[in-house]
Amino acid sequence: MSARRRIGVLALQGDFREHLAALRACEVEGVAVRTTEELDRVDALILPGGESTTMSRLMDSKLRQRIQERAAAGMPVMGTCAGMILMASEVLDGTVEQEPLKLMHLAVRRNAYGRQRDSFEAEVDAPALGGPGPGVFIRAPQVTQAGASVETLASHGGQPVALREENRLALAFHPELTPDHRWHQYFLGFLDGS
Ligand code: GLN
Repeated sequence: MSARRRIGVLALQGDFREHLAALRACEVEGVAVRTTEELDRVDALILPGGESTTMSRLMDSKLRQRIQERAAAGMPVMGTCAGMILMASEVLDGTVEQEPLKLMHLAVRRNAYGRQRDSFEAEVDAPALGGPGPGVFIRAPQVTQAGASVETLASHGGQPVALREENRLALAFHPELTPDHRWHQYFLGFLDGS
């Protein structure tokens, strides 16, 4: 059903190519988005992993505003790791000039896992996907506060690591770096109203 949909991936920095490959594996068209014109041609948007401070700096105010407008109008948005940080309403341990997009009622702390665990792989229990799946955590953020309208879809070590608010999805880990594409499939379901 979502086969004719065009899914944008913000391509300013980070692992957008891996998201485009995951979308190809899901047999949907992925499009790199760097401008408002490109954003206007997609039905949903993925904010990739990478470095949230850099992405924030590279995003001009026009693109920032258009993403916020489209999200408010119902466009599905998924953020992974740095992308989750971009979606938050508040960022702890961010840089002074780092301004999140405030797409979800979330406060997150950057690089929140301790030094020796700042990158690790773990099985993430995800009832929303029908069972556990692989989680690649790379200098991942942690959620410190979530609004009442935010639903936790998966947790790891007592921490929420996958959260949904209406048709916005934030993952602290990187589903684009594993061959398990169930999170992408789950997100694509938003286009069909699930
Ligand atoms: N620590 C990075 C940041 O603050 C996120 C890392 C990642 O996306 N793997 O943006």
